Parts: sequence; C-alpha cells; structure tokens
Amino acid sequence: MRLSQFHLHTTKETPSDAELTSHRLMLRAGMIRKLASGLYTWSPLGLRVLRKVERIVREEMERAGAVEFQIPTIQPKELWETTGRWEKFGPQLLKIKDRKDQVFCYSPTAEEAAADFARQELSSYKQLPVNFFQIQTKFRDEIRPRFGVMRSREFLMKDAYSFHLHDDCLVREYENMKAAYSRIFTRLGLDFRMVQADSGAIGGDASQEFHVIADSGEDALVFSTGSDYAANMEAAVAAAPGARAAASEAMRKVETPTQKTCEAVAELLGLGLERTVKSIALMTEAGFVLALVRGDHEVNEIKLGKVEGLQGHRMAGEAEITAHLGSEPGFLGPLNPVKPIRIVADRDVAAMADFVIGANEAGFHFAGVNWGRDLPEPDVADIRNAKAGDRASDGGELKIARGIEVGHVFQLGRQYAQALKATVLDENGKAAVMAMGCYGIGISRIVAAAIEQNHDEAGIIWPAAMAPWQVVVCVINPKQDEAVATAAAELLAQLQAAGLDAALDDRGLRPGQMFADMELIGVPHRVVVSERGLAAGTYEYRSRSASEAESLDRETLLARLA
Ligand code: ATP
Ligand code: MG
Ligand code: MG
Ligand code: MG
Repeated sequence: MRLSQFHLHTTKETPSDAELTSHRLMLRAGMIRKLASGLYTWSPLGLRVLRKVERIVREEMERAGAVEFQIPTIQPKELWETTGRWEKFGPQLLKIKDRKDQVFCYSPTAEEAAADFARQELSSYKQLPVNFFQIQTKFRDEIRPRFGVMRSREFLMKDAYSFHLHDDCLVREYENMKAAYSRIFTRLGLDFRMVQADSGAIGGDASQEFHVIADSGEDALVFSTGSDYAANMEAAVAAAPGARAAASEAMRKVETPTQKTCEAVAELLGLGLERTVKSIALMTEAGFVLALVRGDHEVNEIKLGKVEGLQGHRMAGEAEITAHLGSEPGFLGPLNPVKPIRIVADRDVAAMADFVIGANEAGFHFAGVNWGRDLPEPDVADIRNAKAGDRASDGGELKIARGIEVGHVFQLGRQYAQALKATVLDENGKAAVMAMGCYGIGISRIVAAAIEQNHDEAGIIWPAAMAPWQVVVCVINPKQDEAVATAAAELLAQLQAAGLDAALDDRGLRPGQMFADMELIGVPHRVVVSERGLAAGTYEYRSRSASEAESLDRETLLARLA
C-alpha cells in the first residue's frame, strides 16, 4: 500500500463540536465524516480499522461454532407486532412507508426476524443447537446521538441468535458465547470487564454486558474487591432489597422544592418528570453527594452544599470532586471532558440549582442527569444497600468505575419463539417451542472505545490488532532521491513478506508533517528511510508507545517487527 495512492486527510484543528477524545481524534485523523446527526461516513482509513474489528469478531464467532447469515435491514411492521415490540420499542424504532403504504421499520436489532428465519428453516431437534450471526447495519433513532460513532443512529453490530430444544443447552451456548467474547476483546487488546446486567423481566443471571473500562464511559459499573462480583449500576441496584421503599421515601422529600429543577432536567433528558425525580431521589437516598448546578459555561468552581429541599441527603463536606463542564447546555459530568471544573463541598448552591451531578464517598463522580437514561422506568433501588450488604458480604469493598458497553449477551428463553410459533419436533415427535439466546457486539462503537482507552496528546495509539497498518515506512524526499525510494520499496516488500500489514508513506511530505500524521492515526511502528540512514546502513525505528527513535540495521529491524 502506497499512501500517495491512498486517501489520508488529517487536520490539526480540534473540531469544536466534538466533546469526547475519541470523537475528536477520529475526526482529526479523518476516519469518519458526519453526514447528518448520528450518521457518519467511514473514510478509507476508518474503514480499514472497522474491518479489522469485524474480521476478529467474525473469526471468533466462527471458531465458537456460529454460522453467518444476513437479515434485511428493512423489516415489516407485522413481524414486529407479533411480539408487541412495534409499540414497545418506542421512538428509537425508525418507521418507513413504501409506495403501497406498507409500513416497515429499519432494524434496530433482529430477534423477530431471526426467529422467523428459524421457524422456516428448523423443523427437527436434530438440527439444534444452532447459532446464526450477522454483521449488519442497525438504526436506532437515539434521543441524543453523540460522541460520533460511540452513540450514533446508524451503526454496525454483530448480532447472533441461538436456538435450542432444552434450557441447559441454551445455558451452555451462553457460556460458549461469553468465552468467545472474552477472546474477541482480548485479541482486540482492550481492557474490558464482563458485568452482570439487569435482566429485567427475565430474571436470574440471564444477561451480561462487556464493557471497555474508560472514565468517559456512559455506564457506571460496580465491582467488589473481595470477589469477582461485577455488575452494571442498574443490576446492582435492582439486586438490592428494600430499594423501592427507600426511594419512594426519598422521593417524597425531594418532590416539591426541586420541582422546577426536575422539570429542567427532565426536559434536558427527555426522560419524563417522574423518572427524573426518581433518579434524583435514588441518588440522594443512596448516600450520594448531590449538587444542583447551573449549566453556565463560565462557571469553573462549584460549591457543593445544602441544596434546598433535599433534607436527608448527605452533606459530605469533605468531598472534593473534579467534574467536567461540557458544551451541551447544562450537561455536567465526566462524559463531557471539555472544561474541568473543581467542585468543593462547602457552600450553599441552592441559588444556582439547575442541574444535577453526583459523587459517592469514594470520590467517584457521575452526572445524575445520565442516570438510567436508556432504561425503561427505573426500577428504583438502593445503592447504599448494594454497598453495605448483599453482595459485599464477600468482605470486599464495592468500587465504582465507568465503562463503555461494547457487548451484551442474553438468554431470551422462549418468549420470541413462542410469539412467532418457532417450533421443532422433539425426540418424541412432539412440537416444542425453541429456547433462544441473543448476543450483540457494537463493532463501530469498539473503534471509538479503543481510542478512549489508547491515546496521548499526539493522537491515537492503536492496539496492534486494530491498527490501520502495523507499520509504515516513511520515505524522506522520495521524489528527489531515487536510491531512498528504491530502498524503501524493498523494505516494504520485505515487511509484507514477513506477514506484516505495512504501508509506504511516499507522499513527499516534510518529515515533521509525516511523523505527526503517523502519530495521529496511531500506527504502532514507524520506520524512516533517509539518505543519511542508508549511508550508515540503518533505518530509524520508533514504536508509537516509545518516546525515542532507534537506529537499527535491516536484520535487527525485521527481527524486531516479525
Ligand atoms: P446502550 O446501553 O449503549 O444504549 P444498548 O444496551 O441499547 O446500548 P444493545 O441492544 O445491547 O445496546 O445492542 C448491542 C450492542 O450494540 C451494544 O452493546 C453496543 O455496543 C452497540 N450499540 C447499541 N446502541 C448503539 C449506538 N447507538 N451506537 C453505536 N453502538 C451501539
Ligand atoms: Mg440503547
Ligand atoms: Mg445498554
Ligand atoms: Mg445492551
């Protein structure tokens, strides 16, 4: 690959509307360009990375025994009505009409369509178990598309659907998928955690999420230091007993005086007033420091203290938290790491109350306004209980970290197959409704999540498996110096022969510009071929994560990179 024939388009300027590091770096590196809200074009550079993620996911799904298929993205309303999800899915479902006035949606996920395929294809228990997967575009009309491809409206998802005669077989496949997911995220070089997710109506341990650990993550995760207990915040609070009563008591306290604030937050979140009040009540009751601050971008120090009307919440005078003020009006929290602000807990902030931020005693902080954003009606519960007992009975301390949800596995049971009458004949020749599992991975989100975890001031630092190229050979003065150009082309061929995904930067840029580009786009290894180096029989080598370059002869270089 010669970069003179490729399309690289990097920019120095930091895009003003991008709040998250990964979004900024993806724009600056020219990986994505915005078409419209939540819709992004992947440039040739971005697509190389996306395809690498996709390939690893495909390989590991196949290794785990799943078989690839592909479902249409446009799906008929009638199909979605069989399970009641035409209504239940809500405004995230994009509805479309054709010329005959037939109504369709753009698939945000595909359980119904997968079950429909299964009922046509599978007739005997002998064909089971089977796990079908696809890597296919999804569309969700997200209420707040943001952070580039991290939460876009159109995105690429790997979704898989498994079919079983018996429950124990479903459980085995679920475990098999969890193992496959662990291999995927390990191969991608990501720091990840598997956590229990709230499985809602289904109950049990039937749902788990995979999170890339990052301070900018939208989800709060709860870990125990005493065991391998890990859950997302919703699952942690849902598991806590006595929660509803505690929250409704707290709600009674916050209801009247903070009405105005809650209305503002509710409008900001599009959550509905009652849900917002419950979220605030929950945080308050759970022992969180709660501050209501105004969304004024000039504010750089917020005093936490007594918030009028919120009796009964903790006044942690000792708490000192750093939060961030974002460019979205009034939205405060680590999700928008634009302008850091200091929050000191010693003064009355009632007068400036507009929006909510929270922090726990351990100094973790997050935006209350983000609480339960995408959940159904929050099944309000008590983090204090989760802190003190149920789970921390392992003797460990409960810690909170933030994560980006990149994968989700679910034991669905028989609800979808039942609704669609997806049956097979069992061992006795009797029709039996199949049990189903579903398993999702956010392919495009992974690209952004990896950058959140791997970057510095100069740009992206790709984990080896995701890099657009593993090594780029930079040629100094390729047009003027034929010997240098020839030597570089030879080296490229040798690197490629050694199995490396290598490219040649023969664009003829000034060295500083060329190196800055390679750092920005995150190439793990850079080799410089120059007249001076050739005279000395060496190449200048630098690893993206090292601070210094080294002079290496060809053998040493090839051995180092092989
Ligand atoms: P979130 O909680 O972030 O809204 P979700 O729980 O709604 O995600 P799932 O239905 O579990 O998402 O979909 C499977 C995976 O698809 C998620 O784990 C995530 O990685 C990815 N995903 C979901 N929504 C988006 C989106 N708007 N943009 C990019 N990726 C997404
Ligand atoms: Mg969602
Ligand atoms: Mg989720
Ligand atoms: Mg999910």
